[in-house]
Amino acid sequence: PKRLHIGLTGAILIALLLGLVCGVIFHYLVPAGTIRDDVFVNGIFYMVGQGFIRLMQMLVVPLVFCSIVCGASSIGDTKTLGTIGLKTLAFYLCTTALAVSVALSVANLINPGRGVDMSSLVAGDTSSLSSSTSTDVSFADTLLNIIPKNPIQALASGDMLAIIFFALFIGIILSMMGRKVEVVHRFFEQFNDIMMKMTSLVMYVAPIGVFCLLARTFANIGFDAFLPMVKYMLGVLLALAVQCLVVYMLLLFLLARVNPVKFLKKFISVMMFAFSTATSNATIPLNIETLEKKMGVDRRISSFTIPLGATINMDGTSIMQGVAVVFTAQLFGVQLGPMEYATVIATATLASIGTAGVPSVGLITLSMVFNSVGLPLEGIALIMGIDRILDMTRTAVNITGDAVCTTVVAKQAGRMNLDVFNDPHAGQELD
Ligand code: ASP
Repeated sequence: PKRLHIGLTGAILIALLLGLVCGVIFHYLVPAGTIRDDVFVNGIFYMVGQGFIRLMQMLVVPLVFCSIVCGASSIGDTKTLGTIGLKTLAFYLCTTALAVSVALSVANLINPGRGVDMSSLVAGDTSSLSSSTSTDVSFADTLLNIIPKNPIQALASGDMLAIIFFALFIGIILSMMGRKVEVVHRFFEQFNDIMMKMTSLVMYVAPIGVFCLLARTFANIGFDAFLPMVKYMLGVLLALAVQCLVVYMLLLFLLARVNPVKFLKKFISVMMFAFSTATSNATIPLNIETLEKKMGVDRRISSFTIPLGATINMDGTSIMQGVAVVFTAQLFGVQLGPMEYATVIATATLASIGTAGVPSVGLITLSMVFNSVGLPLEGIALIMGIDRILDMTRTAVNITGDAVCTTVVAKQAGRMNLDVFNDPHAGQELD
């Protein structure tokens, strides 16, 4: 008899839905403070879910480091690298600015803050945000921090931009010195293969991890807190959908000349992964693997552009920030004019540079955006309570933006294998 083959993508989707249902059941039907919290929510779900995220995080630094070294050494000439780098940067900045504009337009259509009863809102505690805020680092220092004073420290603390910088340098020198450093070159190549293999192996436990992450999230938050915030949430979700289904699809079609629907179909598993974990950083390995194996995007490009994007390109996050600005302004009766909107577009675009793609970081940089136009920070306290679900959704958009840009840049540089892209069975080992 033929066995039903669901594949990894299907299994993750099923796990996601089951986790959601299970979490909701726990939230509403099992009383708090019982077996629900000790054994499940803070026990099994927490351990397995976090264990899975940690496994993926464990891969990030060695994988990014080795694949950038190998990528840079095989692309070789610095001119090509420079062109690709500049194009990627420009693309990342433009798509983010576009994303904030989409968010501001959608929010002005929906008016999320009008007619909301302030007393029904529950304010969260923002003290944790201000203590860990990175917004007091000046822009000049953010740029300077790209050059690591101590590369080992950068690797140890997972400082992505500094790691990228150092790895590119080593890669370029490897290609300059050629045969003289053959042993080191081969070492990085083989270590890179090991990390890729490890990524595929870790993905086998993804469905279990995803189930536990979703079950825990929904057991904790349920749906009650959503009600007064429903318009705000709809605004964010609608703007995210426009960015993903209109802006990205048009870019793929017009600039990369590939079938956007095919792209989405092959990419959906990466989006589900980002959704469940709410961290772009942990999604880096799967994103690179999927682009290479399923879409034929040259790894030498993606190994550089994807980690870069996870750090500096957060379209989904800036969308949330755009809608949050309009929501808070309406709630507190602050008038925003064209100048303020332009300021929001600029700050939200720049705010994401230099902050790592980890859960909730968008709320921290949001204070920078609010400050730039003089909005009260209480607004952040109000949206905190329901942010997790939006964090999950915007992370899925963040990493899609990175992948779309990478595909466009790779295709235009002639570094994309269309046979792989058009083959519906390509990359089945990831499925
Ligand atoms: N969680 C998001 C990410 O990792 C960042 C954020 O918006 O908080 O991409």
